[in-house]
Amino acid sequence: MPSDHALTATGLEKRFGHKLAVAGVDLAVPRGCIYGVLGPNGAGKTTTLRLLLGIIDPDAGERNVLGASRPREVSDRIGYLPEERGLYPSMKAREAIAFMGALRGLDWAEARRRGVEMLEAAGLGTAAGEKIRALSKGMAQLVQLLGSMVHRPELLVLDEPFSGLDPVNQEKLEALILAERDRGATILFSTHVMAHAQRLCERIAIIAGGKRRFEGTVDEARALLPMRAHLVPRS
Ligand code: ATP
Repeated sequence: MPSDHALTATGLEKRFGHKLAVAGVDLAVPRGCIYGVLGPNGAGKTTTLRLLLGIIDPDAGERNVLGASRPREVSDRIGYLPEERGLYPSMKAREAIAFMGALRGLDWAEARRRGVEMLEAAGLGTAAGEKIRALSKGMAQLVQLLGSMVHRPELLVLDEPFSGLDPVNQEKLEALILAERDRGATILFSTHVMAHAQRLCERIAIIAGGKRRFEGTVDEARALLPMRAHLVPRS
């Protein structure tokens, strides 16, 4: 794998029964880039991310993630926000972040210290001592996002991170993603909303029907819109 890429995939395929959910996807995500995977519901975005993370194995194709052909070998260097959100409701926000850091190999006290610091920096300091069950859905989602980045991963994979967030929390999320990129991380996120990609992504891939239909910049995608409108997600 060329060292200037955090992640490459060639010919990824995944079948569930008779359904070919991912039908030969190629991806190359440059290091230090914010990269968007776009596509309508059911396009194959989540399955592609899960293949890249090694949560599921492909039926065909190759992956190389942070230099490893088995992504699970480098899972401590990856942060992941799954599409199904989930934190223990009885944990306080700062403990939830510390817990996620500890799962990725951080010392508990250090993870807790970082969690408090990150909540403060994100303007969520008042939530630190609140139990997850007392937070709004959007706040809990941001806490989970902070938990996915507390171990300072080289690669951050976020599945539909904007969904369910109000405009204020969407702005907080954008700021967090940009700060992670400025720290040197590579960010890969899925969305079905072009506007989110437009504000953040240096490059995007559009997936529809399990196939990659486009790869390039958002401006290049927009130039193709009139001809390929059926492939581009709603904005
Ligand atoms: P969404 O935005 O709705 O989550 P998506 O682009 O992430 O969509 P996927 O969740 O990857 O799409 O699903 C792609 C296709 O594969 C869909 O038709 C889905 O129903 C099917 N699929 C995904 N996971 C499974 C599974 N575990 N078993 C059976 N079919 C699945």
